[in-house]
Amino acid sequence: MGFDFDGCIREVPGISVDCFTKHKFDECSTFFLSHCHSDHMTGLFDGFLSNFQSNKKLKLFCTVESEIILRNMASIDGIDATAALNRTVTKMVFDREYDLDIDGLPVTATAIRAKHCAGSCMFLFKTEYSNVLYTGDFRYYPKQLRHISALRDFHIYKIPLDTIYLDTTFLLGRLQSYPTKKRAFRFIKKEIRQFRQKNPNGIVHIKRPANLGSELMIRVLARVFKTKIHVEDKLCELYKDIDYVRPFLTNDPSETFIHLLPMVCVSILMVVRYSFLLDLTS
Ligand SMILES: [Zn+2]
Ligand SMILES: [Zn+2]
Repeated sequence: MGFDFDGCIREVPGISVDCFTKHKFDECSTFFLSHCHSDHMTGLFDGFLSNFQSNKKLKLFCTVESEIILRNMASIDGIDATAALNRTVTKMVFDREYDLDIDGLPVTATAIRAKHCAGSCMFLFKTEYSNVLYTGDFRYYPKQLRHISALRDFHIYKIPLDTIYLDTTFLLGRLQSYPTKKRAFRFIKKEIRQFRQKNPNGIVHIKRPANLGSELMIRVLARVFKTKIHVEDKLCELYKDIDYVRPFLTNDPSETFIHLLPMVCVSILMVVRYSFLLDLTS
């Protein structure tokens, strides 16, 4: 952890990635959002709403799912962002190249799946001078890297990367050793099974470290324990139209024994609370 990334990609002047502070809107018209966690979207709604009328060139690139989540977030917060999002957002499909002209510089931008939370992506920017990867938060293991098609050329050779912007929340000394999701899920399932064997009517509360990011765990637990997962109304709303998550959720606490809530909501019977679960967001 060394510095606060300020959204600048030196090789592509005129764009801002995951940074929407006020002065950025004086410098740039083209913005990129890697995912909808608050530390990557500071000022986004304010910036787009206040510059929407005056800057007709304003653009926001994000993935299809992130666009849905942005709309849901705006609606939850009572922000009228529909017109601004309708006009400014380009919904990126993973691994497809988008040709852009940034102040006269031809740039190809590609959203690469980041495996962090719903809609999350890394961005690959290619110009005639350099190839740049901006990571945002991501969850890849070395073995998986070879499957990132956007980082390979037509002949399946790795494309050279001139610069990597490693803007990840998880670059922490204490997180040097990271369990795989598989290992984390195995552990959670085992804990819940053991608890339920001893307490057949026991209720399980799982600490949710962030609103967005537990999608895979929701699906895994719902399938394994054949039950929906209880979350608050707000989270049901956040996942509206995210078809691979919403059907597994309920806002009715009586419908299930698994509750995935922020800690403040929890009256504890059993809490799965282990440090490595912190990364259920990714
Ligand atoms: Zn994140
Ligand atoms: Zn982050």
